[in-house]
Amino acid sequence: MAPKIAEFTSTSIDTIAPTVARLQATFASQKTKPLEYRLQQLRKLYWGLVDNADLVMESCRLDLGKPELEVVLTELDWCKNDTVFASKNLAVWMKDEKAPDIPLTNKLLAPHIRKEPLGTALIIGAYNFPYNLALGPLIGAIAAGCPAVLKPSEGTPYCAMVMKKIVEESLDPDAYAVVNGEIPETTALLNEKWAKIFYTGNDRVARIIAKKAAETLTPVCLELGGRNPAIVTKHADIRLAARRLLWGKALNAGQVCISHNYTLVDKEVFPRYIEELKVAMKEFYPNGIKSSPDFGRIANNRQFLRIKKMVDESKGKILIGGEMDEATNYIELTVVQVDDINDSMIKDESFGPLMPIYPVENLDEAIRIANTVHSTPLALYGFGTKAETNRILNEILSGGASINDSFFHASIPTLQFGGVGDSGEGAYRGRASFETFTHRRAVTTTPNWMESLLSIRYPPYLGKVKQA
Ligand code: NAD
Repeated sequence: MAPKIAEFTSTSIDTIAPTVARLQATFASQKTKPLEYRLQQLRKLYWGLVDNADLVMESCRLDLGKPELEVVLTELDWCKNDTVFASKNLAVWMKDEKAPDIPLTNKLLAPHIRKEPLGTALIIGAYNFPYNLALGPLIGAIAAGCPAVLKPSEGTPYCAMVMKKIVEESLDPDAYAVVNGEIPETTALLNEKWAKIFYTGNDRVARIIAKKAAETLTPVCLELGGRNPAIVTKHADIRLAARRLLWGKALNAGQVCISHNYTLVDKEVFPRYIEELKVAMKEFYPNGIKSSPDFGRIANNRQFLRIKKMVDESKGKILIGGEMDEATNYIELTVVQVDDINDSMIKDESFGPLMPIYPVENLDEAIRIANTVHSTPLALYGFGTKAETNRILNEILSGGASINDSFFHASIPTLQFGGVGDSGEGAYRGRASFETFTHRRAVTTTPNWMESLLSIRYPPYLGKVKQA
């Protein structure tokens, strides 16, 4: 029998200010700072995930129709591995760092960097990877010694309730809390003063958050949207490119910020590329994609209608797929040939299982289009020779990039993840998660006995320039 998950309920707005005050008092008490405390909380989060694995699985199924393997790889194990990695490395990350390359006289001041927790943080998650996008940053906050309020996405209500259960049952309630809700609750949270706001989601809401944060000069980490190009040159391994990019769109039914939003394929290999996509489609889903347990659903009707509108309004030609079922928020993995770079399928983020493909004359044209559509995408995918993929990397700036594949750069737990320009600000994962909630404080200590050596600095300055 499937495990039971509590109905989604919003946290009472009246409790938000007292909760934040409680967490801030805990931070002031120094409780969250010792290494042992941080390690203990990370361990508890790890076991909270283990103990509630069936609820995590069920909530992802109910909210997103997520296949079990995807839940294990991209949610459960992802978060568990991040807690283990942080726990193993935390003592080293927390260590003071001596100032490099300094003369002996400066060494006497013991100049170094202390790693200071910033204070109480707000973490706002998105719906597409409900656990990893919320608990990932939380792991960073815990590691850094910061209390935090987690605001999971209401777009995945079952996951939000399970996350509340895990955090409340596993972690120190004086330091960690989950607030569930929608815009009013998030707005109430944003009215509080935070040491850092960590937000994952779309750029429209990011602007609201950045404006609000600016009022109190609160630092933000913004993990934003895609519009990521994939480029397939005529020298690429076409079969591999087709398989890897098809999978890159099928995962989580295309609801991945780093999935390729559109593909620019050299005209010469375009027909072969489409044929290989058809072959891969049959191989991945031998009994059809709709009935496959390995293909997810769109999170909700609002998102379903948004993606459907994009397909309906596109002038592109559907080459593969196109089926939709509103009752189950099902959108088939759909390949569309698009002949206009102003088509909304190329210009806007689909955040769904759409693969618009635009045939190009050559790599020059592909690079020009990629830079025209969006100068700072979150991710970039290049398939071709080494010289060609080097050109792609050199000439298109992006948050991250995988060459000859989808996603890989974001799956390496020790590589930082983040956007650039309007795809985001700041980064996390691995050590970067710790750093994003840490202030690197420069500290020196001047020994009293140095006073005679240092007295040259005091006025009157007359005649001292030559001595200095
Ligand atoms: P969403 O609907 O889950 O919203 C994200 C969060 O914003 C939620 O917690 C929600 O409560 C909050 N929110 C919504 N309206 C708000 C408002 N008016 N004021 C304050 N908070 C508000 O998810 P979404 O934003 O639709 O997510 C999809 C977008 O996120 C896509 O653009 C995707 O590319 C991006 N994304 C980026 C990353 C990344 O790591 N860079 C990861 C996942 C998703």
